[in-house]
Amino acid sequence: MEPLSPKGCSINTATLGFKVPIGRVIEQIASHGFGAISPWRRELVGQNVRAVARQIRDAGLKVSGYCRSSPIPALTSDEREALHSDNCIALVEAAELGAESFVIVAGTLPDGSKDIEGARDQAAQGIDRLLREAEKLDLPLAIEPLHPMYAADRCCINTLAHALDICMAVDSSNSRNIGVVIDAYHVWWDPNLTAQISRAGAGRRIRGFHICDWLNPITDTLMDRGMMGDGVINLKQLRRSVIGAGYCGFAEIEIFSDRWWKRENEEVLRSCCRALNDISI
Ligand code: ZN
Repeated sequence: MEPLSPKGCSINTATLGFKVPIGRVIEQIASHGFGAISPWRRELVGQNVRAVARQIRDAGLKVSGYCRSSPIPALTSDEREALHSDNCIALVEAAELGAESFVIVAGTLPDGSKDIEGARDQAAQGIDRLLREAEKLDLPLAIEPLHPMYAADRCCINTLAHALDICMAVDSSNSRNIGVVIDAYHVWWDPNLTAQISRAGAGRRIRGFHICDWLNPITDTLMDRGMMGDGVINLKQLRRSVIGAGYCGFAEIEIFSDRWWKRENEEVLRSCCRALNDISI
């Protein structure tokens, strides 16, 4: 039996809808007994990152991840450089927070482009460059493949297999400073999922495990994720695979949802705690 307690879970702050300042969010997450937090860059704008890091530590929380990269592909080299520089700033913030990894959502087609292969090449090259910067900071990177429905507007890396191929390609020294995030919402449909989770585990590349549920039907591609247990994903089986592949980090709850974002944070966090029973194995 591997029950899942709040202590073994992280709250990705997107779950709480960015309604209150990060300082309050930290207090709320800690007060419900969760073990970690995964903040977003937008919450740290204008904040003293070191002070936020201290507050997180003092609250007894780890930082399971830091969300997330700006897109990598762009139409011109100037734009590409600007995005790279912005991502380098984010790497420093992630390191100051003591994040277990910096999450890469690669981006995709620049406006007007139809060249997804080109976008994928740029993404792989950009990740390679970011890895060199992250290694100077001793900060692991985690590529998060997004569901193929986002291939046009958010991310051109759409399967765990593709994300792992990029890890292998850029990590020539096999440092394992780069791995993947397995997000249930993005990968549950994949017929190769079990094999790719095993592959990720064998390469010691599982850097994050995000959970929520896929409601059937979804009413919005982005803002209609479900609470664990409310949808069609076999989260118990998925968690069994991820643990079986050697992952022993946090299960990170990440629920983008207009419905949940309308509720008080306290109610959402209580519901998250209750829903953990659904993925105890
Ligand atoms: Zn995620």
